Amino acid sequence: MSKSFYEILGISKNATEEDIKKAYRKLARKWHPDINPGNKEAEQQFKKISEAYDCLSNEKKRKIYDEFGEDGLRSGFDAKKAREYKQWNSYEEAASAGPGQGFGKYKSYEDIFGDVFGFGSGEGGFRTTMAVRGRDVEHEMTIDMISALKGFKTEFSMQKPTPCQKCSGSGTDPASVMENCPVCGGSGRVNVAEGPMHFTKPCPRCHGHGRTGKPCPRCGGSGQVIDTENIKVSIPPGVKEGSRVRVAGKGEQGRNGGKPGDLYLKIHVKAHPFLKRDGDNLFLDLPVTVGEVMAGSTISIPTIYGNVRLKIPPGSQGGRILRLKGKGAVNIKTKKKGDLMVKLIIKVPRTDDKEVLESVSRMERFYEGDIRGDISL
Ligand SMILES: [Zn+2]
Ligand SMILES: [Zn+2]
Repeated sequence: MSKSFYEILGISKNATEEDIKKAYRKLARKWHPDINPGNKEAEQQFKKISEAYDCLSNEKKRKIYDEFGEDGLRSGFDAKKAREYKQWNSYEEAASAGPGQGFGKYKSYEDIFGDVFGFGSGEGGFRTTMAVRGRDVEHEMTIDMISALKGFKTEFSMQKPTPCQKCSGSGTDPASVMENCPVCGGSGRVNVAEGPMHFTKPCPRCHGHGRTGKPCPRCGGSGQVIDTENIKVSIPPGVKEGSRVRVAGKGEQGRNGGKPGDLYLKIHVKAHPFLKRDGDNLFLDLPVTVGEVMAGSTISIPTIYGNVRLKIPPGSQGGRILRLKGKGAVNIKTKKKGDLMVKLIIKVPRTDDKEVLESVSRMERFYEGDIRGDISL
């Protein structure tokens, strides 16, 4: 059984900040590697003291440690979830029960903490003979704007860790002579009693299998290899920059018959030269002729739902925005469609044809007043 941080520093649980500092200084003076060159024990001791001090001298860390023990200090630890689980599984019950019992709905330590440690926090340390769900995996994907708006189906290959087939994920060469694990004595589990919570966890040497031999030559003892898998996905219409598309069951494989995790595709959308998106509305810069806006006209314009007719009222000015209801982007949550806002960009033809220029100059008198009259800077 390993000592608590308080025991390591030789202080009581209600020690003050000052007590902690004093205790640390005293012990550090005794065990500092500079004072004990080449002394392996001193090195170990100093490491332990520093670790204990690092935690207890930090008010936030100390609080978490008091409540959950060292596990609470692991990255990704979710105190809220852990508290919820604890309510169902009181500490006494867990402490008195043998491995794999007494946790109510949850059968073991890592069933609880596999869940409490969130996405991406595991480092493969939770190896067990119990079924464990695979972790979620995130993958980035860059697509063009039209594909994002319309949605599409695609297939790609992804490399991901899968349990080694040769050793069935145990990490042990199946051809080697198996003996009882020297660390756990064959039980596959070791006791952990750090802080107020008592648990057993899978033996780090035999990964919870109880027996061990030479490391597997295919995976080098890790129990996992990198495999390539072809994945078919359907990207729904309306995804935008930063959207996450879930592909169920395509994350990391589960261990010991556990369910696989999910794959999340994080979407990046490339900009489009004419089309912009703001919320669920789309903005299109639409080139029009002088004649089309002066006399008014009905023209055909492309939308992501196919071509539609757009009526340009006579006398429309450049920059006018015409709204096409329901021709915008699909909201990925509500499935409602935004609008398409069409901005008229008047294109003037290039010509040196005298007759044309003359007739255009005759247009000048139809402007009312001074067209720049309202501008004062
Ligand atoms: Zn292997
Ligand atoms: Zn073992």
